[in-house]
Amino acid sequence: MSLTSEQIKELLDENTHHDCEGVGATHVCVRIAAIAELPSRFGNFQIVAFYNNKDNKEHVALIHGDVVDAEDVPVRVHSECLTGDVIGSLRCDCRDQLESALRMIGKSDTGILLYLRQEGRGIGLINKIRAYGLQERGYDTVEANLALGFRDDEREYSVAAHMLLSMHVKSIQLITNNPKKIEDLRQHGIKVNGRIPHIMQANDHNRFYLETKVLKSGHLIDMQGKEHLPEQADPPYVEGMDPEQLDLITRLYLI
Ligand SMILES: [Zn+2]
Ligand SMILES: [Zn+2]
Repeated sequence: MSLTSEQIKELLDENTHHDCEGVGATHVCVRIAAIAELPSRFGNFQIVAFYNNKDNKEHVALIHGDVVDAEDVPVRVHSECLTGDVIGSLRCDCRDQLESALRMIGKSDTGILLYLRQEGRGIGLINKIRAYGLQERGYDTVEANLALGFRDDEREYSVAAHMLLSMHVKSIQLITNNPKKIEDLRQHGIKVNGRIPHIMQANDHNRFYLETKVLKSGHLIDMQGKEHLPEQADPPYVEGMDPEQLDLITRLYLI
């Protein structure tokens, strides 16, 4: 059951004049600005659009079911990746991760995908493309990483935490392969009751990813170095990987 029109009205009303001391070191405060139905190829969602007091980024939550005052809601935090999410770039696996999470949430009784408009985890589109370009011209990781050096994870989790609090989500199960994210959200006041591994369904696209980037040992250095651009900071687990592969990719990603 999705949010009723009464629930939507209540959320919008209480957010109209919302102002608080904010969350995290940056004291970011968000307000729910609009809510609408969003049927999609991954299921029927409602979309919640947020205003925030720090920048012009309009973050959204895709929600499934009645998440208000709900416990143990499966939640995925996804950072925008224009090249991957929209264009289907093969330089990263963001689109696979996004689609897989939406499919999972679309099938659950309740679930939320927080879509954070912070390209490349906050470095911005220009810097991300700059880093791609540097890597192509053979620059070493140090130089390429200069363009990647502006990450602001603090802000990411502050915004995510406040978005969940604004929707009165009581507790969550985080969909991630990265246990560190649980701690980060907890530090921002979210009750995380558990972790749901994010297993991507095997398809032609990520099978290629898996084979070229993990199984061929010649590419392992690149995973750690110039080809590795962990925009979602989450080791990609693909359906069918054996424990050894899971362990290997986790270690490579979480360095
Ligand atoms: Zn606030
Ligand atoms: Zn990406």
